Amino acid sequence: MKASRIGLMIGLILVFFGMALVVGQSALDFKWTHHPPETFGEVEDMEDQMKIATSLGLAGNIIVLIGVAIFVVVFMIEILPPAPTMARARVTRVCPSCGRVVDPDAKFCRHCGKALPE
Ligand SMILES: [Zn+2]
Repeated sequence: MKASRIGLMIGLILVFFGMALVVGQSALDFKWTHHPPETFGEVEDMEDQMKIATSLGLAGNIIVLIGVAIFVVVFMIEILPPAPTMARARVTRVCPSCGRVVDPDAKFCRHCGKALPE
């Protein structure tokens, strides 16, 4: 339970972190679209920043995908029924008369001989 909560948190954090990187890329895009470079120095700045922005956007998208994948996998594990617990409950049965463990398919208790309910 606790481990799965941590997994969900990590997934969410990765999604938000990735989104922040994509927003960063969009902000740089917006900046240079609405304020075109005027000097050679600014053109160089823009080219450098757009290279970084492209990497940021790509990394952001990958991180969002990883975060969503972790979130979905942990969520699936969380909502799946606990199969081992159910199997264990079926192989153990207690006689209502003497309180000792009996075979789950037995019709009579092998300890006290009383009939067992179905
Ligand atoms: Zn018994």
